Amino acid sequence: MKHIKHFRVTALLLVPLATLHAAVTKDYPIQPVPFTAVRVQDAFWTPRLETNRLTTVWYDFKRCEETGRIDNFAKAAGLIPGEFVGIPFNDSDVYKVIEGAAYSLALAPDPKLDQYLDDLIAKIAAAQEPDGYLYTARRLFPPEKMPKMSGPTRWSNLASSHELYNVGHLYEAAVAHFQATGKRTLLDVAAKNADLLCKTFGPGKDQLKEPPGHEEIEIGLCKLYRVTGQQRYLDLAKFYVELRGRADTHILRGPNQQDHKPVYEQDEAVGHAVRAGYFYSGVADVAALTGDKKLIAAIDRLWENVTAKKLYLTGGIGATRQGEAFGANYELPNKTAYNETCAAVANALWNERMFLLHGDAKYLDVLERTIYNGFLSGVGLTGCEFFYPNPLASNARYQRSPWFGTACCPVNVVRFLPELTGYIYAVRDDEAFVNLFAGSTAKLTLGQTAVELRQQTRYPWDGHVTLTVTPEKKATFTLNVRIPGWARNEPVPSDLYRYNDGLKPEVKLNVNGQPVALSLKKGFAQIKRIWQTGDRVELELPMPVRRVVAHPAVKEDADKFAVERGPLVYCAEGADNDGKVLTKMPGADVRFETQERRDLFDGIVTVKVIPQGKGDALTLIPNCLWENRGPNEMSVWFRTRPAPPVPWAASYCYSGDSVEACFDGQLPANSADQKVQRMTWWDHKGTAEWVERYFDKPTKPSVSEVYWFDDTGKGGCRVPQSWRLLYKDGEQWKPVAGPTDFGIKRDQFNRVTFTPVSTTALRLEVQLQPKYSGGILKWTISE
Ligand SMILES: [Zn+2]
Repeated sequence: MKHIKHFRVTALLLVPLATLHAAVTKDYPIQPVPFTAVRVQDAFWTPRLETNRLTTVWYDFKRCEETGRIDNFAKAAGLIPGEFVGIPFNDSDVYKVIEGAAYSLALAPDPKLDQYLDDLIAKIAAAQEPDGYLYTARRLFPPEKMPKMSGPTRWSNLASSHELYNVGHLYEAAVAHFQATGKRTLLDVAAKNADLLCKTFGPGKDQLKEPPGHEEIEIGLCKLYRVTGQQRYLDLAKFYVELRGRADTHILRGPNQQDHKPVYEQDEAVGHAVRAGYFYSGVADVAALTGDKKLIAAIDRLWENVTAKKLYLTGGIGATRQGEAFGANYELPNKTAYNETCAAVANALWNERMFLLHGDAKYLDVLERTIYNGFLSGVGLTGCEFFYPNPLASNARYQRSPWFGTACCPVNVVRFLPELTGYIYAVRDDEAFVNLFAGSTAKLTLGQTAVELRQQTRYPWDGHVTLTVTPEKKATFTLNVRIPGWARNEPVPSDLYRYNDGLKPEVKLNVNGQPVALSLKKGFAQIKRIWQTGDRVELELPMPVRRVVAHPAVKEDADKFAVERGPLVYCAEGADNDGKVLTKMPGADVRFETQERRDLFDGIVTVKVIPQGKGDALTLIPNCLWENRGPNEMSVWFRTRPAPPVPWAASYCYSGDSVEACFDGQLPANSADQKVQRMTWWDHKGTAEWVERYFDKPTKPSVSEVYWFDDTGKGGCRVPQSWRLLYKDGEQWKPVAGPTDFGIKRDQFNRVTFTPVSTTALRLEVQLQPKYSGGILKWTISE
């Protein structure tokens, strides 16, 4: 809690800002209490917010400077000479840090940061072309030298140029900066750009009837509409939303870009998980702002699908690295889970909007699960290390990185953490909603009455919450206090996960010391009364350790349980368990003990898993804190009985890949195919490695075909220097007899025939090229 003393209340705070332009008459029926009207002072979140404000904001800006991202604007403005450096979507990273910096300015005044933003915004404004277009790569390259992804001319390759994605983030940054500072400098840049788009795209403008490849502009345009009241921005957002999947307007790009069928017909979440989450958020915004009931029905169906079939226990989404995408229904692997940090952000953005639309706390249950677990694991406690994927099990080699070539995740962390302060409270007419539990003070207006709400809690370490209500005068209104799903025996609002420990903890609610019967509506305890200064509401959410199991259709979690306490998903990390957790099995019969550990991470609650029969004891920490003590084995799910043996093994396999992939029958298009599963020995380089395949019964193979993984030009995997095949003879491995050539051709199967041999297993041994790693896309064996 060492940062808490630096926290200052400022004149800027606690001023409810009119975020809605008078012209905006229709919006979400529930309105969030904006970040400008909420002051957070919380044992759990304040250190995170302060690290983000004082460290990550500056760290991300420094990285943007060092990697040429900011100079691209200065160069495009003609302020300094030079070519574009990096990838054309790098502009968006700078906008996202500005957005985070703007929210941070609302947390505490910071003249240095304010000045830095002014200088940076001046460069961005100068980089904008006279008609409003803004995409530094195009300003800096002659058409013949443009990176292929950008297309030779403006908007000529919307599938991958990210031109509209970039400016979507510009609009979000501009609105945040305007709301936090009252300055229109970036807002004017954004509006000028949006006006150009409105002249270029839209009904009747025939030549450009295709949607952007990566969604984001829909959200940005809706935010811009709210602060400016310009109807054309909303119309354009709706235009983009409705273009997706329309075969009569463009050649469809398929599920990865949610461009496989019109939004009105979509009912399963597919494709790139970040794109999908941004898309559904944009759809929710457009639905709220237009009242389009068919759009609402569409996102309701998509939400049901994700929540019942595609959601990790941590709130993460996006099961597979192939296409950074959703998997099939119930396909939720743990070790290879992709769960991009940005996808957790997208899922949170979407669920916040679903709540504002429907007023049901079930969406906040998903939101809370996501922010405390799948999102927060994305950033290390230092604020300078980040996960891209967030798997639910890991060998001891996976760790956070200081930055990425594609840096979407670090800059999503920096903007989303402080944005959360605007998610704690909401209002509808004379009703207030307490959505999240965090020590904080908020100014809201209920009906005609100004009310201050003060919340004190040690959440998520205990479930005692005190709310002090201070209306400016005696008034009747309703306080809706969320009773989290986890406290109502429902970890998620679907049958995807359930508690199976038979506990029935009892929630208690007091007003001014008097017990109040819980009257629950859509997951909220409703308290309607005449309120006066000093009224106190006390909520007691019991926090026993809970045992969770997954729906039987989730094969990966069969015969396993996970552990939760309050909103936190726990995990076992090597650091607390003699280095090893993946091979440990606590068994089916366990009990739990909690321990307050003030010495660990500034104070946490750990959970001990104590087997009641034969089994391994484990010490657990919150999953969001793993890998803050160096790389470590980690697991969220624990076995109740031994795993059935698998018919394969390898000397080593990268944690994001799987040995099983060699045998899954998916055919690659070429050796660099990223769309099919694979196994690699990454990042072992120049070593001797092997893969083994066992047969259920003695068999007589004579043919082996292997398709090597080789990502020359992109990564560090190559075909091996040499290799050979061995068969199992009793306990020994012996080379097969009479083999044909051991080929190392790319983009094809390398077939070897050999003298048939009766055996129970084959081993493929490789010698990797010096300084390179390698891998296998597919391996087939036949008689
Ligand atoms: Zn990302």
